[in-house]
Amino acid sequence: MTYDFDGKTAIVTGGGSGIGKAICEHLARDGAFVIVADLDMDRAEAVAKEIGGKAFQVDTAKPDQVAAMVDLAKDQGGALHYLVNNAGIGGPAELVGNYPLDGWQKVIDVNLNGVFYGMRYGLPAIAAAGGGAIVNMASILGSVGFATASAYVAAKHAVVGMTKVAAMEYAAQNIRVNAVGPGFIRTPLVESALDADTLEMLEGKHASGRLGTADEVAALTCFLLSEGASFITGSYHLVDGGYTAQ
Ligand code: NAD
Repeated sequence: MTYDFDGKTAIVTGGGSGIGKAICEHLARDGAFVIVADLDMDRAEAVAKEIGGKAFQVDTAKPDQVAAMVDLAKDQGGALHYLVNNAGIGGPAELVGNYPLDGWQKVIDVNLNGVFYGMRYGLPAIAAAGGGAIVNMASILGSVGFATASAYVAAKHAVVGMTKVAAMEYAAQNIRVNAVGPGFIRTPLVESALDADTLEMLEGKHASGRLGTADEVAALTCFLLSEGASFITGSYHLVDGGYTAQ
């Protein structure tokens, strides 16, 4: 599927790897000027070079850096039309009663506060451009639990709620805001955190019998950003191979 993003400027956080990288590739292929924003500048630069975009180093847990990222989009692309708040981390695997306090804070800072900062600075910029769209990367764990992942599950549930509020507030300014809920996707995040036995067990939890690909998540994300999704806002869209259907 291809879309018309000609003349549009997009920011993708966590664009240097996995799902974010695939989203950058799809957006650029369909004509957008893409700011590849990532904590890891080497990764961001590699993707920006591949797609003809612009790399930007950002820690999305730092509001001043997120504000600078949005300013860069306005400077380099003339205006900001699309924002994908995708950067995220896994965090410690531990029971709630043992959960490390610093690990909790870190996951909330990146996976929840980082998405808030993106919308806090991105929404006024997109409104100034006359409208556009935001996708917040949640997870299946934005609607179901997963033992030992309390911080991640809490942050992703909150992202789904925050998405609904922003959509209600900004529809009148022609901005649509949606959340995407991937099942387990084969990316460096998952492959570095989980051993082969766990990955095999997780495959079996998807009705499709496999993990998803970053391209499959990018396809849904780009549809939600596109004009084809003009009546879709404030909702949470699964791309999970049937994980939550069971
Ligand atoms: P990944 O680790 O492959 O890529 C994440 C990227 O985000 C990395 O390049 C990393 O450097 C960057 N990043 C991390 N912290 C950052 C920060 N504070 N500021 C800026 N950049 C930062 O991960 P992925 O699997 O592609 O995950 C992307 C998103 O999708 C995350 O929000 C994740 O929670 C979500 N998600 C992933 C899966 C999955 O199974 N892979 C499933 C559901 C949701």
